[in-house]
Amino acid sequence: MHRLQYRRYRLPFRVPLRTAHGVWTEREGLLLRLEDETGRVGWGEAAVLPWFGTETADEAEAACRALGEYFDGAELGRVPAGLGCLRQALTAALDDGAMPAAAKPLPVAALLPAGRTALLRVGPLAEAGYRVFKWKVGVEPAGDELALFDDLCARLPDGGRLRLDANGAWDRRTAEKWLERAAERPVEFVEQPCFAKASHGADLLRRTEDLLLGLAADYPTPLALDESLVGEADVGRWLERGWRGVFVLKPSLCGEVGATMARLAAAKAMVVFSSALETAVGAKAALTAAFRWPGEPRALGFGVWPLFADGRLDGPPAAPFLRPEDVQRINAEAVWSALS
Ligand code: MG
Repeated sequence: MHRLQYRRYRLPFRVPLRTAHGVWTEREGLLLRLEDETGRVGWGEAAVLPWFGTETADEAEAACRALGEYFDGAELGRVPAGLGCLRQALTAALDDGAMPAAAKPLPVAALLPAGRTALLRVGPLAEAGYRVFKWKVGVEPAGDELALFDDLCARLPDGGRLRLDANGAWDRRTAEKWLERAAERPVEFVEQPCFAKASHGADLLRRTEDLLLGLAADYPTPLALDESLVGEADVGRWLERGWRGVFVLKPSLCGEVGATMARLAAAKAMVVFSSALETAVGAKAALTAAFRWPGEPRALGFGVWPLFADGRLDGPPAAPFLRPEDVQRINAEAVWSALS
């Protein structure tokens, strides 16, 4: 049995984030604290992303209230499956946080700004030691971005590779044009070329998923699913549909993430671990999951900090590599105290 406490937060970003879903100025969520009879304390974060399809902070908070003051790990099943962020937070707070004994540093992908500015950033980031670069596309007209694409490839360092993230902005024709061009270029994968939300209707959803499967089969560059994966159920569904591309996994959204990772590993899936823009508490759990991945390691999508106006809440600052000790050093209690 554990004593359950939670703190709701609303945290402004240092600078507003421009996402495919609009401008975003602050994030909401909850931190959890579980303490057992022996005084052992565990921490978790429900880093909700409602615009991405998760529960809201209100829903996560209401569910915490319903759990009451005491929580037994066996009660996890009482938390509805749709509350993937809260389920993950409880799972993380019960977890021992242990790293695999042989955990090695993992590379981190550098984030390039959209458009022409990316050309100016590649050189300094390569100099700093980055080898994988993520470029947001689908922001400006495709013709303009395709014209920059070759320049950008030419500026990559030896062994450098690009991840192109369209955030679902392309139609079939645009996606095909890009995939033709990407085939002979150092592109690790193309992320979410097309997307339809469940709220757009079952018909469009199904057609878009068929389109993604078709594009993945027709072109040599791997495709990655991000927006298509809001939680455990989506990962399971795409595994069942035989997705052979990359799964961008945000552990913070994934309920019992260990179980999801076991399914992905059994399918020999390609997995890229990615941030949900957590505080350091969620970062610790999400990065621990990434270090536990038994499959091929790929550059982490965690180059997001510093992120918050209050720097005490940030995860490990962006660097070309993250070491297990960088994660173990995160002081969850200090973040909890900073919120009081
Ligand atoms: Mg993405």
